[in-house]
Amino acid sequence: MHEMGIAMEVLKIVSEHLPKDQPVRVTRIRLKIGKLTAVVPDNFKFCLEVIAKDTPAEGAEVVIEEVPLEVLCEDCGAKSELTEALFICPQCESPKLKVLSGRELFVESIEVEEN
Ligand SMILES: [Zn+2]
Repeated sequence: MHEMGIAMEVLKIVSEHLPKDQPVRVTRIRLKIGKLTAVVPDNFKFCLEVIAKDTPAEGAEVVIEEVPLEVLCEDCGAKSELTEALFICPQCESPKLKVLSGRELFVESIEVEEN
């Protein structure tokens, strides 16, 4: 389950951004996750919950925004959003596609409150 590795990475980013001079509690973590990362949001939330135990991020609400997989066809120039696992242009069936979005995986914001 590759969600566990990503969750650890995210928790690391979160803890690096917490103020060092005062105790805080993370209330909400917002993430953007592209479809191409193949991260299953529910699995990911579960992993993060497990590893956040006994850290300032314990009990934080995890909000995941899924970024659709958008591609540009290099043959016909059509811009499409792929919803199926097939990696071909829906317009002309060309496999020569350039990924415009869908690879994203980042922490968009972290909300904290004083502890
Ligand atoms: Zn095409």
